[in-house]
Amino acid sequence: MTVATAHTTPSTASAQRRVSVLGATGSIGLNTLDLIGRDSAAYDVVALTANRNAEALARLAIAHRAETAVVADESQYEALKAALSGSGVEAAAGLQAVVDAAAQPADWIMAAITGAAGLRPTFEAAAQGTRIALANKECLVSAGEVFMAAVASAGTMLLPVDSEHSGAFQAIDDGSADGIERIVLTASGGPFRDWPMDRLAAATPEQALQHPNWSMGAKITVDSATLMNKGLELIEAYHLFPVAPEQLGVVIHPQSILHCLVEYADGSVIAQLSCPDMRTPIAYSLTWPNRMQTPTERLDLAKLGQLTFETPDVARFPALRIAQDALAAGGCAPTVLNAADEVAVDAYLQGRIGFASIPALVEATLDASEQSVGRHLPSTLDDVLEIDYAGRALALSLLPKFNKT
Ligand code: NDP
Repeated sequence: MTVATAHTTPSTASAQRRVSVLGATGSIGLNTLDLIGRDSAAYDVVALTANRNAEALARLAIAHRAETAVVADESQYEALKAALSGSGVEAAAGLQAVVDAAAQPADWIMAAITGAAGLRPTFEAAAQGTRIALANKECLVSAGEVFMAAVASAGTMLLPVDSEHSGAFQAIDDGSADGIERIVLTASGGPFRDWPMDRLAAATPEQALQHPNWSMGAKITVDSATLMNKGLELIEAYHLFPVAPEQLGVVIHPQSILHCLVEYADGSVIAQLSCPDMRTPIAYSLTWPNRMQTPTERLDLAKLGQLTFETPDVARFPALRIAQDALAAGGCAPTVLNAADEVAVDAYLQGRIGFASIPALVEATLDASEQSVGRHLPSTLDDVLEIDYAGRALALSLLPKFNKT
């Protein structure tokens, strides 16, 4: 547990920084490229990757004059090649090609592939010593100890992109990590914050995808509705900052203006505030230790009038408690938690299970995994991927019990 990686000496700024974006066609990827495009002379775009969205990827690669564009899904290779024809951008496809893209020499890389699929490429970027802007929270949730060790051994730097962790990083960026007593992450509460239990059970994917404050990919939006996202973020924070699990807290803050509070031994609390726009934390990761101009709406507290806070209701949103338990249990519990949640959210989005079955399936998988997967702490990336695979298989085997009738 250290923030030391986030406080290493910044490299000397060169005329053009070589940057890559993994998950370029997603919500974080597009916001990142929006910022890069606002100062395009400062950046040399090396590689952009996507899963299967070949046309959107090709458009981005051409617009940003990328050297390489890569789709993970090999069936999209011809479409990508055709869309890039005559542009000078190299096309590639396949899982290994995404890892190879992450390995290309760069000064900075945005790790924004969603899910455990982002692990291998992000580990590869770390091994190359590339400075990593980390949006892919799964690297820390599924593989926290292994990933932090890889970052430390490469001597590279990790910059958190999640708004709450960027907020904490900004609050302790003066190096005063010593006297931290507590770190409190805020959660909007999602679209169902006020819903009673019986109504929650019938919440549809369409309703869950309507986040009140943020526009994000489908997986994280559903996780925000169940509060699993906040649980995953607690695990992230545990690995990023020098705190024990019991020093981490969550408070519901429906306006999503205040992102994180860092409480110090002398009673001081340092908070980071900004309007809910991911371009603010992404910009901080892109230009740290400097700040760049962003189009984020400016905060007008008088116009807002009030900021409100509530205690999370873990009876209605048990996913938060389940994630906290997995963090406290340690070992491979967070890896299984993440794998089961990916299966559960996918099943929910496909209409196979109800909203309340997402945390129920995750908890059932964690309970059953103690017997079949064990509780040992993964020590290598392959170990993590094996546990992830076993966790998914277990969740899939339990899924029929939760199927809608
Ligand atoms: P999106 O679903 O919007 O985008 C995901 C990106 O990853 C797309 O480019 C997608 O390509 C690509 N991708 C998906 N699956 C694979 C795969 N198997 N192999 C290679 N590439 C893949 O997600 P978000 O941008 O919302 O989130 C990305 C990450 O950032 C997640 O880990 C999320 O938790 C985290 N995060 C997101 C925030 C947000 O505001 N959106 C805030 C904080 C963290 P394609 O378009 O082809 O499907």
